[in-house]
Amino acid sequence: MEKTSKKTTGTTKKRTSAYSKEENNSMLQELFIEELRDIYWAEKHLVKALPKMEKATSSEKLAEAFADHLAVTQEQVSRLEQVFELMGEKARGKKCDAMEGLVKEAESVIEDTEEGTSTRDVALIIAAQKVEHYEIAAYGGLATLAKTLGKNDVAQLLAQTLDEEKETDELLTQLAENNINQSASQEEMQEG
Ligand code: FE
Ligand code: FE
Ligand code: FE
Repeated sequence: MEKTSKKTTGTTKKRTSAYSKEENNSMLQELFIEELRDIYWAEKHLVKALPKMEKATSSEKLAEAFADHLAVTQEQVSRLEQVFELMGEKARGKKCDAMEGLVKEAESVIEDTEEGTSTRDVALIIAAQKVEHYEIAAYGGLATLAKTLGKNDVAQLLAQTLDEEKETDELLTQLAENNINQSASQEEMQEG
């Protein structure tokens, strides 16, 4: 028997073709702008958080990594402002609940760990990597979406930031492996 006939499901699900292409694009573009506002807020929030993380570590290398990433993050904020401009939108942030939470976690590991210990540094690295992974997800999605929207110049800017976040994540792994985790494993539990 031939099976060439199209099956119909009988549902009344809306089909994409019910919308014009323009309408679809503007909905998606609106979503894109909303996501840009989210990450813009998140980056600006990080500009405030990174100095606290730098201050909290006793590792020179980790402090340097946080300081460097602060400078990179400030550039990323400007890059996002460029993106808003290319999209014909005013740069405006919208609170990112995830980044607020991730920064709270970073603050609480500082509170919960002893100053001057590598154990604190391990906790700071994990907290920072959670931040980088959120950013990697956000920029990965946004860069792909920019391409879909036909904004290749925007996609390129976002991909540049994506690479920086990935590099930072890798650097943090290297610092853990060499030798912060090892050093933390020698630390005795404090009494009390
Ligand atoms: Fe960033
Ligand atoms: Fe968010
Ligand atoms: Fe980052």
